[in-house]
Amino acid sequence: MAIQRLFIANRGEIAVRIVRAAQALGIHAIQAHSEADTDMLAVKLADEAVCIGPAPSKDSYLKIDAILKAAKDTGADAIHPGYGFLSESPAFARAVEAAGLIFVGPSADTIERMGDKVAARQAAEAAGVPVVPGSDGRVEDVASAVAVAERIGFPVMIKAAAGGGGRGIRVAKTVEELKTLAPQAKSEAEAAFGDGGLYVERAILSPRHIEVQILGDGENAVHCYERECSLQRRRQKVWEEAGAACLDDETREALCASAVALAKAVNYRGAGTLEYLYDEAANQFFFIEMNTRIQVEHPVTEMLTGVDLVAEMIQVCGGAKLSMTQDQITRTGHAIEVRLCAEDPFMNFMPWPGQVKTLKEPTGEGVRFDHFLSEGYQIPPFYDSLLGKVIVHAETRDAAIDKLVTALTEMEIEGTKTTAPLHLALAADPAVRAGDFHTQWLEPWLEAGNLTAKGDAA
Ligand code: ADP
Ligand code: ADP
Ligand code: MG
Repeated sequence: MAIQRLFIANRGEIAVRIVRAAQALGIHAIQAHSEADTDMLAVKLADEAVCIGPAPSKDSYLKIDAILKAAKDTGADAIHPGYGFLSESPAFARAVEAAGLIFVGPSADTIERMGDKVAARQAAEAAGVPVVPGSDGRVEDVASAVAVAERIGFPVMIKAAAGGGGRGIRVAKTVEELKTLAPQAKSEAEAAFGDGGLYVERAILSPRHIEVQILGDGENAVHCYERECSLQRRRQKVWEEAGAACLDDETREALCASAVALAKAVNYRGAGTLEYLYDEAANQFFFIEMNTRIQVEHPVTEMLTGVDLVAEMIQVCGGAKLSMTQDQITRTGHAIEVRLCAEDPFMNFMPWPGQVKTLKEPTGEGVRFDHFLSEGYQIPPFYDSLLGKVIVHAETRDAAIDKLVTALTEMEIEGTKTTAPLHLALAADPAVRAGDFHTQWLEPWLEAGNLTAKGDAA
């Protein structure tokens, strides 16, 4: 039975995106919010809204019983978790199903299996997908971590099996470093994820981060091509593109086919992403993890392919078959997304949650602004600093960068600092223009003072 009343257990720009997708499908949108979010845009746009608790996430957006009670009280038949918060919690997916509601995502078992990076690596290998050389399973102690590192060669990455958001990761160049850093990664993982399990894999030097968007209905799976997210700070994405200009057609085909093979092997349902590292010199790609949810950067894929990923995930989770076959999914031009955060890029990205005094949105053909701002809106200080995303689409990558500059110049947000100056500086950089970068490029670029030198606010 198709979904009729969708409960949105998230906030910010992704809540707005989901409310709009639901309403376009004729679905009644019920927006959950904390006490700090009563005036957020998704609440205003939704057909109905309900408070689920106090400002801190642990008392609202992460509180499973409060969310389930509100969903049942409002007569919802499905819950969309968005990204972050409970989106990758098998316990939440299980509780939603046990309450007789639809979880808009894969099964709890799939989330559990693919959310454990060690199990996901094993599933990838079994499906014939290349993974970064590393430990066979978790490493139980420092001695076995050292043994693995000596087998695969330094430098190595120590990673949390339950990791996410760039946390619980360390790079060790020597045995001594490994001995010091492994306990650090373990305690960070314990604190952040309640699971101190670690594994070790080879650190790929200067790789590009390339990921494949997939959609599945539990039986069939398709891909919507790849995105490149190599411009990262603290292992978090800053600027994303679709497609990856560095790939030749043959490599792109092999990469996307490997993602579909893995999605089919786990009977994937909903929207998901397989993340890979790409060694450009060797023309080799390696699976690193799967995100079993909609991603922040999904709009670049939507602009590249014309597929509405959020609508499609809602429909397949409501029981429909995929609405398209692989050969109906084509790519046109090039799309770029930049993340706008309420941070001061000239002050080491210090959070800056101000009140929006004036807002002038960027407009024009091929320009999309996914956000949750309005004039007078006070950004609450309790949550992630992401305010929105500016997305542009044009015939070529060069034209897309030009369009991004026009859009960011036209946009005006007064009353809060944003990371827009960073994106303008990146767009003006010759290496970015040439597509000549990798995951370890942005941090040294910032440390070298490129932003302050070019910005006028410093
Ligand atoms: P994407 O690949 O979609 O960019 P991110 O890793 O940036 O994913 O995460 C998306 C959102 O989820 C961000 O708001 C981030 O802060 C949050 N997030 C990611 N992993 C976790 C986690 N394990 N716990 C809490 N929040 C997380
Ligand atoms: P998270 O779950 O926190 O997103 P990922 O496994 O996706 O963690 O890794 C985050 C980022 O860390 C990657 O995009 C990449 O920049 C870097 N990274 C992860 N594994 C490796 C590796 N083996 N070699 C080099 N860089 C890596
Ligand atoms: Mg990742």
